Amino acid sequence: MQSVTVLGSTGSIGKSTLDVLARHPERYQVLALTANSQVALLLQQVIQFQPQFAVMRDADAAQQLENALCREGLATQVLSGEEGLCQVAAAADITMAAIVGAAGLLPTLAAVEAGRKVLLANKEALVMAGGLFMQAVARSGATLLPIDSEHNAIFQCLPTDNGGGVREQGVRRILLTASGGPFRNRSLASLAAVTPDEACAHPNWSMGRKISVDSATMMNKGLELIEACWLFDTPPALVEVVVHPQSVVHSMVEYVDGSVLAQLGNPDMRTPIAHALAWPERIDSGVGSLDLIAQGRLDFEAPDPQRFPCLRLAREAAEAGGCASAVLNAANEVAVAAFLDEQLAFVEIPRLLEAVMSRVESVEPETLEAVQAADAQARRVAQDILATPGRLPATERQ
Ligand code: NAD
Ligand code: MG
Repeated sequence: MQSVTVLGSTGSIGKSTLDVLARHPERYQVLALTANSQVALLLQQVIQFQPQFAVMRDADAAQQLENALCREGLATQVLSGEEGLCQVAAAADITMAAIVGAAGLLPTLAAVEAGRKVLLANKEALVMAGGLFMQAVARSGATLLPIDSEHNAIFQCLPTDNGGGVREQGVRRILLTASGGPFRNRSLASLAAVTPDEACAHPNWSMGRKISVDSATMMNKGLELIEACWLFDTPPALVEVVVHPQSVVHSMVEYVDGSVLAQLGNPDMRTPIAHALAWPERIDSGVGSLDLIAQGRLDFEAPDPQRFPCLRLAREAAEAGGCASAVLNAANEVAVAAFLDEQLAFVEIPRLLEAVMSRVESVEPETLEAVQAADAQARRVAQDILATPGRLPATERQ
């Protein structure tokens, strides 16, 4: 029996994780569930899974949860704040890191530093602090397993012992697949007026709103490019993005002999979650068989650089190194929040990112504090630009 903490259990990945865990009560016991402020849903999850701990990031929400648990007569202990998140992240045999954004960095690192088995959905943590993060993994002996479907696919296509970097393993290229999101075929002229709900209506995946917007701009693929470089010790030049609208091939690895290995499956996050939970064993995830005959065809195309400038910005940040990725990630979090709040047009997202990137100096992040300072500075600069009308270059009519 292994104990599991689910960071971000009320989110899309969190709920899928609980769905898989509920299928295997003989293997896994939930130690802790956490959320930002969604009391009602966390309460429901606590009633179902009876964990030892429940953590709310928000202190008021923690108090409400505690009162509700008291009424239910449940013994689950309620903790709050980042400290509570870090405590439960470090305490379980397995920690699912499924908080969205930079807020997930410290709790995820706490699990890594405790040498746990860490299931990484929170790609922003690696994008922000990849070097320090991977050093911590090496130091603590933590087992880091990717949940992002593409990275989980790449992991499955690489040799089991991935020590020494992919080049030494005979890898020629990593082919990172991308669905192209909801706007792959929309006229460029109409992109200026797209709404948050249109951007969040992903054709193949049902996900949280932040990653859904990232998929629409293809910043998600950009963040995943950076994530792949850290996870698999690969230079950005070895990672090629291929648009594959059906999201059935989750990514591929090409070897020097010309072999290309791919991992395929229905687009359902329970597959990578179950893979990582049980690794190196296999367990049922609840996902049905892939019906290739019903699928009929699999298409591939190159990403359109004019439609998806965020992909170029992410590649530039990956190549620049230093704090560039942390700056890009922080600016993107501000931009996506402003877009969801209808304060920024969809096509202005890459413009804001580019403006922030050009104004924040990228130094080599020696410490976590340096990464956090770069993150904070990028957020300040982004907010300043947003607050000053006319500071963002005018939207070109495309
Ligand atoms: P979501 O918005 O559905 O859920 C986010 C979770 O994090 C919630 O439980 C929320 O309460 C918690 N949270 C939010 N802000 C927090 C804060 N400041 N402090 C503590 N907790 C906070 O997001 P999601 O779609 O489940 O994505 C989670 C992570 O997984 C993201 O990093 C995303 O990029 C990654 N991911 C998601 C998918 C997917 O299919 N949804 C696929 C691949 C990777
Ligand atoms: Mg992905």
